[in-house]
Amino acid sequence: MQIMLLGLPGAGKGTQASRIVEEFHIPHISTGDMFRAAIAQKTPVGLEVKQYLDSGRLVPDELTIRVVQERLSQGDAKNGFLLDGFPRTLPQAQALDELLNRLGRPLNRVLYIHVPENVLMARLTGRRICRSCGATYHVVFQPPKVEGVCDKCGGELYQRSDDTPDAVKTRLEQYAQTAPLVDYYRDRKLLTQVDGERPVEDVYEEVRRVLMSLEG
Ligand code: ADP
Ligand code: AMP
Repeated sequence: MQIMLLGLPGAGKGTQASRIVEEFHIPHISTGDMFRAAIAQKTPVGLEVKQYLDSGRLVPDELTIRVVQERLSQGDAKNGFLLDGFPRTLPQAQALDELLNRLGRPLNRVLYIHVPENVLMARLTGRRICRSCGATYHVVFQPPKVEGVCDKCGGELYQRSDDTPDAVKTRLEQYAQTAPLVDYYRDRKLLTQVDGERPVEDVYEEVRRVLMSLEG
């Protein structure tokens, strides 16, 4: 299973990804998570990308592609993977095609989680993440049982530095670079559109159906 999640920031990619990887046992490859980990560890990549993440701009293609290339060459990605937040530009999509063709493992489905843009500001500014396990919550739509505490591991919940109104605005503008990927994958007959403006479990039920049909 070589699959990818596509959609606006806040569409629910990370939320669906955590359910997919738990059920289908494939690694979750999120460039956003990888960049945030690099920033926290102050690696050379982290120092380079920090300015982009803080402001909500996209990290340059060359660096992003290199990071994904290294990740996909690791052993756990040999039996499938879930890409989340990559590719985000046409050059990234072309580089991914070349890489996967070279490895003889092309993508077999792109799930496009569609939501109207007007729901995203509320979703993103209310998002909270667990510092220990990375689980995603929302102060209104998916609140934890105890405020500020992760249900799964008891870790502390924090707000991403780019989930502020200013950075969200920039991120939504940057999506103009990602929008052409919908047609790119539709033309290649890889795209399945899922309505993401429903409760999380309803969205997952549809996602699951699509993925089961791939396995079958
Ligand atoms: P993405 O990874 O696409 O940026 P997330 O999965 O992090 O998006 O979701 C963004 C925010 O919206 C989170 O706070 C999450 O809890 C919430 N969310 C995700 N899916 C839904 C949904 N179907 N309905 C309401 N809120 C949702
Ligand atoms: P995300 O966690 O997917 O919302 O990504 C957070 C931030 O990481 C984005 O706003 C970008 O600054 C950066 N980023 C993540 N993935 C990519 C990508 N594929 N290309 C460029 N920048 C990215």
